[in-house]
Amino acid sequence: MSTTLLQAAGPPIELADEALDGLRAEIRGGVHTPEDDGYASARRPYNAMHVDRPSLLVRCAGTADVVAAVDFARSHGIELTVRGGGHSIAGLSSSDGGMAIDLSPMHAVDVDPDARVARVQGGAVLGDVDHETQAFGLAAPLGVVSETGVAGLTLGGGYGWLRRKHGLACDNVLGAQVVCADGQVRTASADVNPDLYWALRGGGGNFGIVTSFTFRLHAVGPEVAFAGVFYGLDDAAQVLRGYREYFAGAPDEVSAEAILFCSAFPADPHLPEPVHGQKALVVGAVYAGDVDAGMKELQVLRELATPLADISQPMPFVAVQGAFDGFFPRGQLHAYWKSLYARELPDETIDRIVQRAKDRPAGRSEFELAYLDVYPMGGAVSRVAPEATAFGERSAPYLVSLGGNWTDPGESGEQIAWVRGLWQELDDQLGTGSAYLNFSGREAGEEAQAATATATNAARLADVKAVYDPDNFFRRNHNIVPAS
Ligand code: FAD
Repeated sequence: MSTTLLQAAGPPIELADEALDGLRAEIRGGVHTPEDDGYASARRPYNAMHVDRPSLLVRCAGTADVVAAVDFARSHGIELTVRGGGHSIAGLSSSDGGMAIDLSPMHAVDVDPDARVARVQGGAVLGDVDHETQAFGLAAPLGVVSETGVAGLTLGGGYGWLRRKHGLACDNVLGAQVVCADGQVRTASADVNPDLYWALRGGGGNFGIVTSFTFRLHAVGPEVAFAGVFYGLDDAAQVLRGYREYFAGAPDEVSAEAILFCSAFPADPHLPEPVHGQKALVVGAVYAGDVDAGMKELQVLRELATPLADISQPMPFVAVQGAFDGFFPRGQLHAYWKSLYARELPDETIDRIVQRAKDRPAGRSEFELAYLDVYPMGGAVSRVAPEATAFGERSAPYLVSLGGNWTDPGESGEQIAWVRGLWQELDDQLGTGSAYLNFSGREAGEEAQAATATATNAARLADVKAVYDPDNFFRRNHNIVPAS
């Protein structure tokens, strides 16, 4: 018997069972082909639009497994994908017919409360980190959905509820252990391999497989002041104007999202009854500081118009981190997202996007989630120099993210067209020319390109890629081509 595997270049190869047995002998996690029971129990990707089936799935239990898997893929020239949390919107963590390294067994989190650091393995998801760090009243700035992978999110930047106070996830990485393309395990920090350390903070999965990160932690929680306000679409333009004015002078402690839901909410008992069947604008915000001071500070965001519903209250930080989880079930939704950094948010744009939300017809899917999300930046995000880390976009006042998520695959064309149409309109008028790659979808013909997002640092990234991955072995990612 043999297994057919895609090669990174050239025709597929047939690998005899004896070759796989050799790999099995080296791996403590598991080596699976689609026929094995273990194959089905691997972590599923989030995006049902990219349910590719690798011919070989290697579940790594530790760094030694990762080294063995990398050596095996390289020596046979096999196309390799790397799966941390599996949340890639572009479907970059699986490929038909290749080999996937699944890091989900590597999700340990070890907190040193005195030093305020945590060592986080490369397959951990956000909820793993929050669970352990909150036991000490500490937090790493990550994202806002608890099942998202720490690795992909951090390597590509990482925006969450703490960003304006404590920066991006990548800004809080003090070091990492990386298995590079040559199979060598390297440390990356300010003192050791500083070029690799620089590149990992925004350059994505281009430089190797991160088996662990060391994060700086901050005193947050266990309760935080949280605002969650649902406004009707008739008030949405007024609310977005007020939101814009507020963030022109807001304290760094406040990080927020204004999510214009362009599809109607389901009649879900977890949602306030007045929004069932309604489109709405939701303003969500967290105050990273004293809870009472925070509830006072967030009051203004609760009074931008008369809300349909207001669930603002002091909340456990872990509950805030899981607040959106129900909207994003793993493996069930087809997803196409796009983003742009916006220079401004003028009145005409606000009026236009609200009108687009009102006019958008319901899709045919049993469940759909179409939204436009405005993230104010500034604060700690903008105090990092663009060249200080590979993540170069530091000055735009807003990130605008557009999301289409739906259940009926027959609807993909319309759903994608809606996201693209609105994105194009906004990008033409407000865009800085760069996008947040972690929020970038992909369909046929759309290559995952790192160039736009990393323009400021593109040349240096290509140089570092040439040092650590000269043959572009790690290419199933928002790819950086090695400098020649
Ligand atoms: P995976 O799909 O596992 O991997 C994607 C790519 O990351 C891989 O192709 C590889 O190149 C790289 N990679 C993964 N693990 C490793 C590793 N250990 N070493 C080296 N490379 C690796 N982003 C935000 O900034 N803030 C948010 O709040 C946020 N919320 C999200 C919510 C949902 C529901 C989803 C689907 C995405 C969200 N994102 C958010 C985007 C998220 O940052 C990206 O999807 C990111 O790629 C997820 O990381 P992952 O490890 O789960 O990805």
